[in-house]
Amino acid sequence: MVIYDKEYAKYSLFFGGVIFMKKLTNNIYYIPHKSDTDRPVIGLVNGSKYSLVVDAGNSPHHAREILEEVDQLGVNNVKYLAITHWHWDHVFGIHYMNLLTICHQLTDKKLKWMQQLEWDDKALDERVASGEEIEFCSSMIKKEMPSREGLILRNGDITFDSKLEVDLGGVTCIIENVKGDHGEDSCIVYIPSDKVMFLGDCMSPDFYSGARSYSHKVVDMINKITQYDVDTYIAAHDEPLEKEEVHQYFNELIAIEKLTRDIANLEAAIEVFKKEYMRDPIEDEMDTLQCFVNGNLK
Ligand SMILES: [Zn+2]
Repeated sequence: MVIYDKEYAKYSLFFGGVIFMKKLTNNIYYIPHKSDTDRPVIGLVNGSKYSLVVDAGNSPHHAREILEEVDQLGVNNVKYLAITHWHWDHVFGIHYMNLLTICHQLTDKKLKWMQQLEWDDKALDERVASGEEIEFCSSMIKKEMPSREGLILRNGDITFDSKLEVDLGGVTCIIENVKGDHGEDSCIVYIPSDKVMFLGDCMSPDFYSGARSYSHKVVDMINKITQYDVDTYIAAHDEPLEKEEVHQYFNELIAIEKLTRDIANLEAAIEVFKKEYMRDPIEDEMDTLQCFVNGNLK
């Protein structure tokens, strides 16, 4: 595999982290997430003709590390890159992967917008001050890439509206836009032969427009996801999760959405919860209640 040394040379100072590709099933590998600079999980789906990478990494040097790991595996013709959504940590490596990039049309639109932006410290600080960017992402971008000079952002090569299937030879990937609160463009990548689904960040709340929030959108999203037969889910900033764990969380989200409909303050939401469950909410439930209340206030 060709690695773009010319571009990477600029970032080699910051290269040197150790990552390990893990085998999940017969046809699927993944690189675990790393929270220190908010690197998401990277997936690799291996067919007899082609392979597909899920998400591009959060920097040129992350992309390079991914390609080096993939190269060492000796998998078949790595051809496609599927993007789960437009957030920086999933897309900054697209150019450096140099694969055929598949993304939802809304993701593509956002990527084209991101290409117009400046990404130096001053521009990031200004966007944080104006509310266009959030402090967490700004600080993680600075930590992952102390210099962003020459950073090249790229949009997709193949876009789709609601759903796309990719035949890798004996292994199919279904890429579907499930929407939800985290982003209208959120997509899952489902591999029926292995009963594995990459979720990107779609289970997370909206944290880009004011206080973290969930809305009724989460129910439609869960219905789309659970139509598939899945044994293992992989959320982008978590360890792989068994079906039972994820479905339990989905049930909790659906129940709390129903309980908090039209409730605009946390105290009232807690009272409704206590009445329903005859107990106080635990920490996670309290957080979910707050997210739905925030969603009602938007
Ligand atoms: Zn995200």
